[in-house]
Amino acid sequence: METEEPEANTEQTIEVGNYKRTIQKRPVTFTCPWCNITSTELHYPGNPPQWHRECKKEAYRADSAKRMKELRERRAEANPPRRGPGRPRKP
Ligand SMILES: [Zn+2]
Repeated sequence: METEEPEANTEQTIEVGNYKRTIQKRPVTFTCPWCNITSTELHYPGNPPQWHRECKKEAYRADSAKRMKELRERRAEANPPRRGPGRPRKP
């Protein structure tokens, strides 16, 4: 009976040595889609903000409220309120 060993050559050696990586904050200018105000904030590169922190919170809250509303509407669509057994009313 043979035992097959899976190749386990996924190891990688990364030499860092004395190299130090320094990340500096930079001014990032963005226009907040929530309040439409352009402002500049100091941020680390790579993940620049697009929202004010407060606005993002606000938007998140509004968004979840909106999602709840949509969910409720979708449910209402799936189960429309019943009307009485239908004889069309004649004027
Ligand atoms: Zn804002």
